[in-house]
Amino acid sequence: MTRLNETHDPELKSWVDAANAAQCDFPVQNLPFGVFRRKGSDEPYRCGVAIGDRIFDLAAAQTEFEGDAAVAAAACAGSTLNAFMALGPGHWSALRLALSRALREGAPQAARLRSHLVPQAQAEHALPAVIGDFTDFYASVYHATTVGRMFRPDNPLMPNYKWVPIAYHGRSSSIRVSGHRFARPMGQTKAPEAAEPAFGPSKRLDYELELGIFTGPGNEAGRRVPLAEAESHVFGLCVLNDWSARDIQAWEYQPLGPFLAKNFATTISPWIVTLEALEPFRCEWTRDASDPQPLPYLESPDNRGRGALDVQLEVCLETAKARAMGMGETRLSRGNFRHAYWTAFQMLAHHTSNGCNLQPGDLLGTGTQSGPDAKDVGSILELTAGGKSPVTLPTGETRSFIEDGDTVIMRAWCERPGYPRIGFGECAGTVVPAA
Ligand code: CA
Repeated sequence: MTRLNETHDPELKSWVDAANAAQCDFPVQNLPFGVFRRKGSDEPYRCGVAIGDRIFDLAAAQTEFEGDAAVAAAACAGSTLNAFMALGPGHWSALRLALSRALREGAPQAARLRSHLVPQAQAEHALPAVIGDFTDFYASVYHATTVGRMFRPDNPLMPNYKWVPIAYHGRSSSIRVSGHRFARPMGQTKAPEAAEPAFGPSKRLDYELELGIFTGPGNEAGRRVPLAEAESHVFGLCVLNDWSARDIQAWEYQPLGPFLAKNFATTISPWIVTLEALEPFRCEWTRDASDPQPLPYLESPDNRGRGALDVQLEVCLETAKARAMGMGETRLSRGNFRHAYWTAFQMLAHHTSNGCNLQPGDLLGTGTQSGPDAKDVGSILELTAGGKSPVTLPTGETRSFIEDGDTVIMRAWCERPGYPRIGFGECAGTVVPAA
């Protein structure tokens, strides 16, 4: 069943010229939400929508909307999107429709609305929501198998992997928006041949190429969200880099899972692309016939038919030397979220299957997205075979892991013949020397 509506019409153009460029992330069919202010100003952070190379200032445009769209816009008047996320799909959709009509070519209010546009180049971002809780899944079987083999050569995939959408509870206090700079983590590590562990800067710093799922209305404690209703709890998706210290991880992760290896920094893109904007890029979800099929609470015809999302991903690296030489970034790999072992909806339904309550603005990471092709890997751990096969960059430098001064840039976008491309913008983070 398709839920395309007039906001997805591929023929729509915007009166914001840059939105109509072929490679633009933000055509009028996208309309992602974020939080911004003018760079270097002391203005309050406020909610906005990306259109072309501009941001439509929702706080300034409050009087432009009617009905449910006005209620939704009022919920966007503050400095976070949580109140808007809490309203649910009816209001999300009403505001999207009103924005689409206001920003498309021929809109009678265009002349008046121009004053509510801020150039993206002159803006800085804050986190789009207060993130109460952050849960990180592990939904790529390719990543889980490759990494599992490094940590446990005889037993790469634990017996529960193909039954349970595996996750751990992460930390929300260290999540930052793109442009994030953070110090290399210190920690306790133990080399395999060493008799005792040592404390010092991580030597095996890695990135993880993921998407983040922002949750909508939430559920009361004790009330499960069935798979059939999971969609109405997904507000939208962003790009997410779950920075990881592999040497700290290897020493600490048993028996309770990741702790200090993963809670020092997480970077997300400033824009949340709504689930409704992703409608043209929904696709079939399949489970190999030789694998266990999902238990009934994680199974539905709708999830089979349109549960996966065809979102392309890439990760690029810009070293300090490349920056100084003006050589720019190098793409390390690509991927696609449609290869995930579990859908976003299965992750959300599973998360609440014990009665655990989600709240508006909670963030679920999808886990590192590596694909079936060996070159589509979402971490440098996989790219360099655990550091044994360093990559050579155009500057002549090599990398086994991420070094000080390196900037990791992740992007995501959707393409399909007959539809305008939509993008998520950038998720960039830079590591500086250990404090
Ligand atoms: Ca992760």
